[in-house]
Amino acid sequence: MPSIAENVAAVRARIEDAAGGRRVLLVAASKMNDAARVREAVAAGVDACGENRVQELLEKNAAHAYDGAPLHFIGHLQKNKVKYLVGTADLIESVDSPELVELIDARAAKLGLVQDILLEVNIGREAAKSGLMREDVEKTVAFAAEKEHVRVRGLMAIPPVGASPEDSRPYFAAMRELFIDIAGKKYDNTPMDLLSMGMSGDFEAAIAEGANMVRVGSAIFGARDYSRPAGR
Ligand SMILES: *Cc1c(COP(=O)(O)O)cnc(C)c1O
Repeated sequence: MPSIAENVAAVRARIEDAAGGRRVLLVAASKMNDAARVREAVAAGVDACGENRVQELLEKNAAHAYDGAPLHFIGHLQKNKVKYLVGTADLIESVDSPELVELIDARAAKLGLVQDILLEVNIGREAAKSGLMREDVEKTVAFAAEKEHVRVRGLMAIPPVGASPEDSRPYFAAMRELFIDIAGKKYDNTPMDLLSMGMSGDFEAAIAEGANMVRVGSAIFGARDYSRPAGR
């Protein structure tokens, strides 16, 4: 089996091929991989680690799993978990309501910091998925732009699971359009410089459609073993 370092190198090579000279950030989606394996990915030079569950993130952070790499939260965010993430996660990628923006702003104000976030978009309008509907994204950006302690860095999406990466393309293209449209409005205090989309199965298609941040799990760590408890 190839090592994590070999996998990271292979993913990097594929990213470079797809990116044609553009810079694309590689986030290692490390759910269900223990601290030692996450450290291997960090040592192999991933640009960030992305974690799905707050509890797992806190445990692995306490074990110094992410030292040397920025830490992103990429999972579904519950309101009562905001307090644990603000100031711990460098980027919260999965903010999907004005209420969360408000709670993050309040917590960040209390800690005296500015929290970078992405807004998650439910680009496939799936009932079972979280994320803002596309028609609600711009007003949420405008709402966040008024908040002193939140900075919207861009958008994130997970398109519907398709039979092939090509099935994701129209969703990625729709995301790019939304991203460029809102970035062009130049809201105050809103860099809008990150478009996070693409996973192991479809990151090349995402990059071709404008992603500058991809979240890759199994292509780095191997298939996840769902028979084991999370974080072990
Ligand atoms: C697990 C996960 C990924 C990575 O998925 P792979 O298919 O293993 O690359 C990316 N984004 C999110 C939000 C995830 O939960």
